[in-house]
Amino acid sequence: MIEMPEAVTIAQQMQATLIGKTIQHFSRGVLVHKFLWLSKTAEEYDALLSGSKVTGASSYGRSIFLDMGEASLLWFGELGGRILYHSQGQPIPAKYHLRWDFADGSAMTYTLQMWGFVKLLEEYEVTKEPYAKVGIPPLSAAFTPERFDQLLEEYPDKTKKGVKGFLVTSQHVNGIGNSYLQDILFKAKIHPARKIPSLGFDERMRLHQAIQGTMAEAIRLGGREDERDLFDHPGGYHRLMGSQSLGQPCPNCGTLIQKIAYLGGACYLCPNCQERP
Ligand SMILES: [Zn+2]
Repeated sequence: MIEMPEAVTIAQQMQATLIGKTIQHFSRGVLVHKFLWLSKTAEEYDALLSGSKVTGASSYGRSIFLDMGEASLLWFGELGGRILYHSQGQPIPAKYHLRWDFADGSAMTYTLQMWGFVKLLEEYEVTKEPYAKVGIPPLSAAFTPERFDQLLEEYPDKTKKGVKGFLVTSQHVNGIGNSYLQDILFKAKIHPARKIPSLGFDERMRLHQAIQGTMAEAIRLGGREDERDLFDHPGGYHRLMGSQSLGQPCPNCGTLIQKIAYLGGACYLCPNCQERP
């Protein structure tokens, strides 16, 4: 899934590559996927997008936004897969879910993995509410240790769900998914199922630091190695904790890394450094 470092990377590349281009045609590919959501029909997307110019690209947490002039906005959210740019003359992949052809002969395709939505919002929808910008991204000025502590306290499920629920599934912090979560919790030495009230001050501060450190490093490296940027290049961030580390010795203490299933997804952890609650 695209998490904040990948969203930042792709949005920056879109800014450098797509701004000023005019969309000539929007179409769906031969692939169909029931977990790909559009906010209108493909015909409506084509009618609204054809002739409009890309005027901006940005990201917020895990979302990517492409501004199409004043009138509309493409919102890529909660997304897994590949958003790829193809310069003029470069072959287009045989299979994809969505395709944007630009007037200069270049194109962009999106191929979904898992699930995701690509919403096309018209002006009246864009201005309705800041629905897309829910939560605080981990490297924003608002994400101070004090605010983080306050968010933990305000989390309504704090006694029910563990820290994984707060960081990944709640809307409080926007940017972390199940992949970076593993490294963040390992660095902070916290088990994913730890309940929020059990986290002491030092642990909260360690967690804040691990979140910011991991996100900043991954952005600097262009996202993680198992994802692709706009030009189909893998990122340079190598995960500490993932399927590749299962059964390997912990880099801190040598205990073998374990896998557990928790809150809809695998967690990889060191049972010694990240003690069970
Ligand atoms: Zn360990």
